[in-house]
Amino acid sequence: MQQNITQTELRNLVVGIDTEVPIAEHKFTTAVNFDNAASTPPFLAVMQEINNFAPWYASVHRGTGYKSILSTQIFEGGRQAIKDFVKADQEKDVVIYTKNTTESINMLAYLLCADVPDHKDQVILTTWMEHLANDLPWRSKFTVDYVDIDNYGRLCLDDLESKLQKYRHRVKLVTVTGASNITGYVNPIHEIAKLAHQYGTKVLIDGAQLVPHIAVDMKPIESPEHIDFLVFSAHKMYAPFGIGVLIGPREFFDRREPVYKGGGDVKLATHQNIFWEDPPAKDEAGSPNVIGVVALTAAIKTLTSIGLERIEAHEISLADYALERLKHLPDIEIYTHSQRGKRKVGIIPFNIRGVHHELTAKILSGEDGIAVRNGLFCAHLYAQRLLNLTPECLDYYSNNPDIPFPGLVRASFGLYNNFLEVDRFIMALQKIIANKS
Ligand code: PLP
Repeated sequence: MQQNITQTELRNLVVGIDTEVPIAEHKFTTAVNFDNAASTPPFLAVMQEINNFAPWYASVHRGTGYKSILSTQIFEGGRQAIKDFVKADQEKDVVIYTKNTTESINMLAYLLCADVPDHKDQVILTTWMEHLANDLPWRSKFTVDYVDIDNYGRLCLDDLESKLQKYRHRVKLVTVTGASNITGYVNPIHEIAKLAHQYGTKVLIDGAQLVPHIAVDMKPIESPEHIDFLVFSAHKMYAPFGIGVLIGPREFFDRREPVYKGGGDVKLATHQNIFWEDPPAKDEAGSPNVIGVVALTAAIKTLTSIGLERIEAHEISLADYALERLKHLPDIEIYTHSQRGKRKVGIIPFNIRGVHHELTAKILSGEDGIAVRNGLFCAHLYAQRLLNLTPECLDYYSNNPDIPFPGLVRASFGLYNNFLEVDRFIMALQKIIANKS
């Protein structure tokens, strides 16, 4: 780990910072990106590795050509880097490459579904905090119940336990986000895993917002706190789109037919029989995204060399600073809370009273060169709860699609952001508040 890496050095690790925005009406030479929860810009090292590898890419596990050999080595080496990064079980877990978190969860939903004759009899316990990627894939296949949140929007572990008691052996999986993409709240993943295991079920952690910001330890399979399944996406961890992972026990994938079928996942097919490859190849039909693996591996290498502890500390100090300054502005509604002993990632959801969320985001971007996100952030149920939207209210908006739907503005920090950018953000908000009618 690099102990003394400075903020300037952190900033220089990422490409596209302090460059002109290539949109005609958005000419800011020093644009600020506070939309890292959506996607991060890539590390310079990631782009260099992609460039170096580009002349050599080829399909993997396809014969003895030197390009295929090289691609295969890099592709398989990436799995080890990923396992080391999240401390997956070296022997018993497999890393399956996917497109992104959404594909990983959908794949798992299909695979689990194949297990049970009457799916609706089986229960998936998800939560009110989830991104739709960890809600919708389960709905068509299982009975889904949602673990409640408290008045701060934090997950209620008591409710998880009472739902585990209520459904008992019918719970097929407990599936929870590691960190919320709206409030930044971090869930106690090991406590959740322990509880799930006590009731004889397994746990999936949606790591999309956790893995880039906080060190994750899946723990050995024998541990009561072991994370059974973990999913995440490279584009939120300083590598481009198109590659994600699904990590889980080899024996789970071994026992099931793959979701996608085709070349690369069979040893031999005849008219009568198909002999599947062993996992993980079995669940990776088709020509894979080797360049994506190169990018993800390089991103992991850079994150590791900075140190996740350093990243977490920096991002939280930025978020705390921003939160303190926001609290002193008039007419600001904040939807996240800092509580002693409760971890968070650097995300702040807010609104300016009397200004529609979309307008705030547009002014911040168009007039001040500060990119944030607004809306419901694909975590619709959670956003509705945070905004106190009653069922009547939701009906009203559904029946009046021309009336702008309520939502939030989200500022989310990356490791390369700095305090000067927060100051600029606060000044821009002060201007919006001063000008509102
Ligand atoms: N889960 C969470 C918590 C997210 O924040 C996101 C994306 O914002 C996703 C899942 C979906 O990720 P992807 O679009 O990479 O599949």
